[in-house]
Amino acid sequence: MSLRFFTKVKSQQKVAADLVKLELVAPSNFSFLAGQFMSVAVEGFVRRSYSLANPPHEAEVLVTYVDTTPGGPGSRFMQQVAENHEIDLLAPLGHFIYIEEKFRPAYFFATGTGIVPFISMIRHELETVKSGRQVVLHYGVKQEDHLLEKALWERLTQEFPNFAVHFYVSRSTEWEGNKGRMTEFINQGIPADIDAYLCGGMQMIQDVEALLLAQGVHGGNIYYERFY
Ligand SMILES: Cc1cc2nc3c(=O)[nH]c(=O)nc-3n(C[C@H](O)[C@H](O)[C@H](O)COP(=O)(O)OP(=O)(O)OC[C@H]3O[C@@H](n4cnc5c(N)ncnc54)[C@H](O)[C@@H]3O)c2cc1C
Repeated sequence: MSLRFFTKVKSQQKVAADLVKLELVAPSNFSFLAGQFMSVAVEGFVRRSYSLANPPHEAEVLVTYVDTTPGGPGSRFMQQVAENHEIDLLAPLGHFIYIEEKFRPAYFFATGTGIVPFISMIRHELETVKSGRQVVLHYGVKQEDHLLEKALWERLTQEFPNFAVHFYVSRSTEWEGNKGRMTEFINQGIPADIDAYLCGGMQMIQDVEALLLAQGVHGGNIYYERFY
């Protein structure tokens, strides 16, 4: 059940030029499902949605990451909000949730802050569900310093043999890994019998969905959340 409540900012931190990490104090007994989001009143009655990055087993805080490049009311609010500021919140919301399943591999495709719900989902699977299913993350950003939780992904790769991550950076000249858009790299080699989770902008979702369908992935096993 979602609730409206007032809570406080625990911390607000700039993690890159246009990226903010926000931590809110969760009300007591708050619970949510991996992949859900919260709705924050950012300017009078104007609300914006932000996915929860923390996994359900860490429900004492509400963590999100915000890309402030769009520059609208949500971006302005997140850039200047300070510790202890009171926040008007609706949470948890949404049906883009992680579906626990043992055998079929789970593939995640994110661009930009589309990674946020996947931090929660992937940590939930690896740290709580522990089904042993294969978990693969394809994660694309414009520039290297926009890669969120890079150290976490690298640690999870070391710790869990069933987890793999592939990064794509489209605009950097320094980056030594995969350079270009994610869709240039995933046009083959994705198995057909997978659950696929897609999150980010509409164009990426349409492009990745088309590639997955062409590779035989069943449309009913493709789940997505469109941020804009
Ligand atoms: C379910 C859900 C969960 C979301 N979770 C997150 C999250 O965890 N982190 C996060 O940063 N955002 C998230 N968003 C997007 C967020 O709610 C806002 O839309 C975004 O922050 C822009 O708000 P704004 O008021 O600054 O700009 P607006 O005035 O709303 O938008 C200005 C323009 O920018 C475009 N735009 C919006 N977002 C982007 C973007 N990321 N890149 C490029 N153009 C964009 C809009 O289409 C519009 O044309 C989520 C959206 C939804 C629907």
